[in-house]
Amino acid sequence: MRDTTAEAGRGAETAKPGLSRACPRAYTHCPMRLALFDIDGTLMQAGGAGMRAFVRAIGEVFDVTVDRKAINPDGKTDPLIAREFLAHCGEEHRLNEVSGAALFSAYLIALEDEMERARAAGSVRVLPGVVELLEALSSSPEFALGLVTGNLERGAAIKLSKAGLDGYFHFGGFGSDSADRTGLIREGIGRGARHVAPRPVEAAFVFGDTPLDVSHGRAAGATVIAVASGRYSRAELDACNPDLVLPDLTAVGPILSFLRGGLPGSLR
Ligand SMILES: [Mg+2]
Repeated sequence: MRDTTAEAGRGAETAKPGLSRACPRAYTHCPMRLALFDIDGTLMQAGGAGMRAFVRAIGEVFDVTVDRKAINPDGKTDPLIAREFLAHCGEEHRLNEVSGAALFSAYLIALEDEMERARAAGSVRVLPGVVELLEALSSSPEFALGLVTGNLERGAAIKLSKAGLDGYFHFGGFGSDSADRTGLIREGIGRGARHVAPRPVEAAFVFGDTPLDVSHGRAAGATVIAVASGRYSRAELDACNPDLVLPDLTAVGPILSFLRGGLPGSLR
């Protein structure tokens, strides 16, 4: 997922013609904009496959039964979700480096299986406008696409591949980098900066569907675009004071204008 060598080559091949029009300076000095995406509820929905995989893995490793609805996972990282599940059933004291590694190993096996079942059942859904927006960003040389997600890096790859969205993203920050969402977003921005170097990063945009995406995205210094395609309404997200709130990602042209410095009012 972080094949920077391949991406640098791809960028060099595709970027020069567009940049020669958009940027009069040398190619290597053109400022870049990072478009960073949350996965669940922002790019896609998986019909609860992730939580079912957690329940299975916790049962296998800790021999306890947890209710998948016992905690609210929205916007949380996989390490935090695991800790909250175990705390809910009074087993948090058993979580350590060894048992945590076993848990996530079992989780990734269960996730592959649950995601395939969900895909076969037709409950893996790419959200409206996502493919069109990712295609438009991918063909615009001033943007670099990454992920900022609480999923483990391998879990993110599993989910995206089952949704047919793998191949768009070349760097990211993940739950396997940090249990703290601000930390993983900072990691994603840092990897994005290294990915586009020597071109400088002019702006970093975080797309997310929960209040935690908004608060942690802002804490990490990003411009935050909240999308009401998950479980939170536009009003609930607006109350968190993001830079922009959208009902979904279908307004591709206006979204690109905003990312290029247009007025957010054009999308409201
Ligand atoms: Mg989400």
